[in-house]
Amino acid sequence: MKIKTADIVISAVSQKQYPEGMMPEVAMVGRSNVGKSSTINTILNRKKLARISSSPGKTRTINFYIINNEFHLVDLPGYGYAKVSRDERAAWGKFIETYLTSRKNLVEVLLLVDIRHEPNNDDVLMYNWIKQYGFGTIVVATKSDKIPRSQLQKHINLIRGTLKMDAEDKVIPISSLKKQGIENLWGALEELFIA
Ligand code: GDP
Repeated sequence: MKIKTADIVISAVSQKQYPEGMMPEVAMVGRSNVGKSSTINTILNRKKLARISSSPGKTRTINFYIINNEFHLVDLPGYGYAKVSRDERAAWGKFIETYLTSRKNLVEVLLLVDIRHEPNNDDVLMYNWIKQYGFGTIVVATKSDKIPRSQLQKHINLIRGTLKMDAEDKVIPISSLKKQGIENLWGALEELFIA
């Protein structure tokens, strides 16, 4: 896919602010610090469109980006930041749930995990949650430059096994730093829109 235009539509703090209309939408979610902002900036080829978080876990907005005037890429707030309170965690859950249940135009949710680590309990819960809402779930394994190429498949298998992924679900390794795997991710997104 060629990116002709990429812009932020809105940083929504509530449902009222979600963009109207039926433009297809793909959302991204993952643990704080997984590299979500870097991934968005890399795939959109814009250095500073998404903010690289300086205070992880503090973002409570859903950021809607519009790509080529064709679809929305949606940045959901990260989870799993150790220092948030139980109340804040519950508020996060409600915030995400409102989004997932209200968007008729939501086509797919991408779950981001760090390729180096076994997905933790929060990741497993998130994966199952997304599935439960009926989304296919593409897993994006970030920071692939941090492991040797020879270890890649082993790490992918660990992610697949821990999340108990269905055979048809994709794991796409990417590196924002080295700009690797970006074409594969675009390919998977294109398939969604064409299918
Ligand atoms: P977010 O909290 O999920 O939005 O994560 P950020 O995009 O802010 O990235 C968290 C940290 O991981 C930052 O220090 C980034 O520089 C680093 N990072 C992100 N992507 C990559 C990558 O592909 N490779 C490497 N080596 N580091 C990365």
